[in-house]
Amino acid sequence: MTVGFDRVRRRAPRSTSTTAPIGVDSLGKRALFTSAAEVSQPGIGSALVECSRCDARTVLGPMQAMRAAIPSLHLGIRVGHGDDVRSLGLIKRDYPTYMRCPECGRPSWVRFTVQL
Ligand SMILES: [Zn+2]
Repeated sequence: MTVGFDRVRRRAPRSTSTTAPIGVDSLGKRALFTSAAEVSQPGIGSALVECSRCDARTVLGPMQAMRAAIPSLHLGIRVGHGDDVRSLGLIKRDYPTYMRCPECGRPSWVRFTVQL
């Protein structure tokens, strides 16, 4: 069930490294990301975990996110940034990921949004 997450994770560095030298389009996108990130949004590659149990919103760095996501069940994964979030997965539900919440430390249904 972590396959989808791996795919997302692998794509992230590749897309930044290939688009970086190309020019206008990537610069525009990067500017967008940067300005969005500065408005207290988590950085690219990090993950926002919203717990249905304790209502905490926790931002995990890429490494923390990987570690937190490994013993977990992803019925769907959310990818995006700010308001532009897509749900990838067969099952539509508000909290599609079952994992240990970093905040309350208990296995909970959470919304796991990878920031891209
Ligand atoms: Zn929690």
